[in-house]
Amino acid sequence: MKVIYNKCPDAIKKILFAPLRIFNRYKIEAKDIGAYRKYLITNETLKRKELEEMQWSKMKSLLEYAYKNVPYYKEKWDKAGVNLNDINEYSDLIKIPILKKDELREYWKDIISQQYKIEDLIIHETGGSTGIPVKFYYDRKTYIARQEALNRWVRFSGCDTKKDKMLWIGRPGFKLLKNREKWGEKGEKYYGAYNPITNRMSITTTNMTDNILQEYVKRIKWFRPDYIQGYASGIYVLAKYMVQKGISLEVKAVLTSSDSLVYDQRQIVRKAFYCEVFDRYGMGEEVATAIECSEHNGMHIDMEKCLIEVIDKDENQIFNKLGNIIGTNLENLAMPLIRYEIGDLGSMSKRICCCGKESWMLEKIEGRSSDYLVNKDGSIIESVSIAQIIPKQCIDIFEKIKEYQLYQIDIENIVIRISTLNGDRLSSYEEGEIMKKIYKYVDSSIELSFKYFKKLPRSENGKLRLVVSNVKK
Ligand SMILES: [Zn+2]
Repeated sequence: MKVIYNKCPDAIKKILFAPLRIFNRYKIEAKDIGAYRKYLITNETLKRKELEEMQWSKMKSLLEYAYKNVPYYKEKWDKAGVNLNDINEYSDLIKIPILKKDELREYWKDIISQQYKIEDLIIHETGGSTGIPVKFYYDRKTYIARQEALNRWVRFSGCDTKKDKMLWIGRPGFKLLKNREKWGEKGEKYYGAYNPITNRMSITTTNMTDNILQEYVKRIKWFRPDYIQGYASGIYVLAKYMVQKGISLEVKAVLTSSDSLVYDQRQIVRKAFYCEVFDRYGMGEEVATAIECSEHNGMHIDMEKCLIEVIDKDENQIFNKLGNIIGTNLENLAMPLIRYEIGDLGSMSKRICCCGKESWMLEKIEGRSSDYLVNKDGSIIESVSIAQIIPKQCIDIFEKIKEYQLYQIDIENIVIRISTLNGDRLSSYEEGEIMKKIYKYVDSSIELSFKYFKKLPRSENGKLRLVVSNVKK
């Protein structure tokens, strides 16, 4: 096979071997998964100094690798006068220029390592309710690291991915789509699925009206999940409905991510499900991930997977103070994201957590909590899905858009705030297309309008929120 492959001209290779490439891209060996899992579990027992040394040695190798294999970094660092021989400890990192989200959006092709071919990589488009989405690529090893880090989160919550039944609330993963039993009216987009083989249930957060929530509760009671995982905003919408109707259902743990729960919302989720909430901080780019342990006081940073810095406005590294979170993914050699500015504010400390695990801690995150739009009947609309309509459902139009925000002035009016890359307005056809998609979630009696900006207004902490509402929930 190898001989035939090597003899083929490149164009033929591309066509003939495309299915093989796709297969290889996702071919995950059980031994690799097991090895990475063991690696994570071992690291949880390491002393602080050992963790720091391990993290630094990975960072140092990544910097050298990126300089050699990613022309974008070589050019940028040379221009900035960076000499890698001068980067020998954590505090030296400030000499390396920060990678901005806009750069990733524009120069993503140049950030792919020369050692990899794009067709062998897995593409990921970021989602969530609090940041303009970007796409990037990673390899199989990084895929395993991502999955195992998620499993670590389940482990920290006291649950077991193999034995316990999981209810997923968000967008269903492709695994759940196989062998699914769909629910939904004929011809309507389905809104939930049960997979008898994996014994998992997923419900989508795209259309959480009272009628659909009632159906969800019925199905969830039948399924009796051990734990719930998914978008914080979607879980909150379900919990709020349950509490209002006097319904509760006991599970072992609720695991939230994508956007954060403020204190009151967390209390409502605890009340609906009689359990503790384990929040996770992460993003598609996986440059900064951290998870709550049973202490529920700050989050443990996955120090073998990422290196986090928090910087002030002069780009000095700071601890125990709110600043800009900068992250580096230590695993992804295919498209190294080094000193990447996420756009969230947070504080980090070297405090050792009472649970005994000695990683550094993310203490506070700001900028993840988004508002909820409210429908005419007072029902709230989960924010991740609505925030993703423009980038995910109006892909061609999104190419022209720099920033956007859905801003609800009152119960009758939502303004779609937009700044375009070339400064022009969208055409009325394009505006119409966006409105059509939004009206699938929002009552038709609510008025939608467009307003154009050079730069969209930021919240107090300087962060662009994708969903903002003045309506009291
Ligand atoms: Zn802890």
